Amino acid sequence: MSETILILGGSFAGISAAHYALKHVIPQLPKKEGVTYNVTIVNPSKDLYWRIAAPRACVSKQLMPADKIFYPIEPAFTYASSTFKFVQGSATHVDSAGQTVSVTTVGGEQQSIPYSALVVATGFTTPSPLFTQTTNAAALESTYDVFQQSLKNAKTVVVGGGGPVGVETAGEVAEILNGKPGFMASAPKNPKAKVTLICGDKKLLPVLRESIAKTAQQFLQRLGCDVTYNTKVVSATKVGDQEGAKTRVELSNGETIEADIYIDATGTRPNTSFLPKEWLDNRNRLACNPQTLRVEHSSASRIYTVGDVGSYTRGGVIDIYSAVPVAMTNLKNDLIAHITGEAHKGDRHHTPDLKEQQICPIGTQKGVGAFAGYRVPSQMVWLIKGRDYLIANLAEGIMRGDQFKKEGKWTPIQQAGKAGLSSG
Ligand SMILES: Cc1cc2nc3c(=O)[nH]c(=O)nc-3n(C[C@H](O)[C@H](O)[C@H](O)COP(=O)(O)OP(=O)(O)OC[C@H]3O[C@@H](n4cnc5c(N)ncnc54)[C@H](O)[C@@H]3O)c2cc1C
Repeated sequence: MSETILILGGSFAGISAAHYALKHVIPQLPKKEGVTYNVTIVNPSKDLYWRIAAPRACVSKQLMPADKIFYPIEPAFTYASSTFKFVQGSATHVDSAGQTVSVTTVGGEQQSIPYSALVVATGFTTPSPLFTQTTNAAALESTYDVFQQSLKNAKTVVVGGGGPVGVETAGEVAEILNGKPGFMASAPKNPKAKVTLICGDKKLLPVLRESIAKTAQQFLQRLGCDVTYNTKVVSATKVGDQEGAKTRVELSNGETIEADIYIDATGTRPNTSFLPKEWLDNRNRLACNPQTLRVEHSSASRIYTVGDVGSYTRGGVIDIYSAVPVAMTNLKNDLIAHITGEAHKGDRHHTPDLKEQQICPIGTQKGVGAFAGYRVPSQMVWLIKGRDYLIANLAEGIMRGDQFKKEGKWTPIQQAGKAGLSSG
């Protein structure tokens, strides 16, 4: 019999959780006659999508080719070929009483996968198809082809959303259409297109301080992108269905823009529709204990969450690095206590890093950001992220699980209401 640690989602969080489970959970589970353990990932695509690079990948496959944004998942686990399984498909239902997940595979087959412990890492979907891989790499590449074709004749582009995705995308779109400005230029000489970024707030980039947000606006202006503040996109409607049809963008300030292209970068939608409604918080994220990352609803047993689908996080890859060891250690200790009937070894706790932290390229030359509360100069932003959207620094390492070579130090915290555990 093989017992399964089932991971739903094969992106930054799911792949990281799988590496941690293979390296530090399975080897420590009690050996039982006739019982083996495996780690199974379910994901709609066989490739991880480097969505961090989406703002550049969507505008140009020369600047950001497919082999830089898609990374095959299964080959990353050849070191554990007897204990790792990959199922290309989507979870459609969780039966927590029966401890099974229903999955529709890419071929349309229905499967029911039993689990001993479940990790939900299904992340989020974006309103624009430019920033989400919904099925596979080929489908997203063809979305990019169509978008890049439409960009060629675009004279008016509207981007909705003043967060990092909106700012980065507006910068890439403006630069590809209007070109790179001269060294000292504050705006392009002969802009080909009018690019407008609609920001619902009084400043861009909510995580960063006002002075950094102002610099972001100046860098956008240099590329020919204007920012409209304190304004929301009320509706965006295609005018006709012929190729090249314009989009009528209605704004909360009463203005209407007839745009050749409208890009919706206004937030994210958690992928939780397959989960019981009573497990979700008021933002439709999977509600968990923010310290243990365990789902604590009375009907959920040995269910954990990592990544942007979870209620515990403000999102981002760095937070995943710190969350994975916590969720997977708690999963391990819960499983050991369940299998052996021995006292629980205590919980590992997650502490969110809430420092001012965000790196935001604006076109291929400039950018703004802060790291650990310190402002990062534009040249450093370029070096860290702007030149290739973190691919050289992070992509191969994430696929190999480099961050989780070691289990990491932690002090067991006694579970509330349970005696006999060593406390911190
Ligand atoms: C344009 C853009 C730029 C970004 N830039 C940065 C950045 O510079 N730095 C940073 O830290 N963060 C950045 N982020 C945020 C970062 O992408 C997220 O933090 C990260 O993707 C979260 O990873 P995840 O694994 O939790 O979820 P996701 O990346 O959303 O992955 C979820 C996975 O689950 C799969 N899935 C969904 N539903 C199911 C289902 N029912 N069954 C099975 N699988 C399912 C999805 O197909 C996907 O593969 C950016 C986001 C965007 C959109």
